[in-house]
Amino acid sequence: MSCLFCKIANGEIESKLVYADDDVVAFHDIAPQAPTHILCIPRRHISTLNDLDEADAQLSGKLLLTARRLAKELGFAEDGYRVVMNCNGHGGQTVFHIHLHLLGGRALHWPPG
Ligand code: AMP
Ligand code: ZN
Repeated sequence: MSCLFCKIANGEIESKLVYADDDVVAFHDIAPQAPTHILCIPRRHISTLNDLDEADAQLSGKLLLTARRLAKELGFAEDGYRVVMNCNGHGGQTVFHIHLHLLGGRALHWPPG
């Protein structure tokens, strides 16, 4: 498997790990766009949001709940934060293993570019 995030999930490539369980791994983004920028990924390879299946409803919910919990633990849940999943070219996706961006620690602009 040549996927970068599969390799991060199975420890073949190092990352600044924040959380891991049987289904989900969370680690710091290598090019942070906010004081805290964490990526939450499923261990199982899913290329894009378009490839998510009805059967993945629990897994995708778990990604959201992981982001929410980390925001709380890291202390910026009340100030606010953003979770984003980019899909394909127009969405700005560059790594084709789905990941939820968790951005926090500063006021973020809207709308995004
Ligand atoms: P996206 O553009 O939504 O596909 O996001 C991909 C993200 O992965 C970007 O924010 C990158 O900075 C991040 N990224 C790429 N390579 C690594 C890596 N080895 N470790 C951590 N984050 C990475
Ligand atoms: Zn993968």
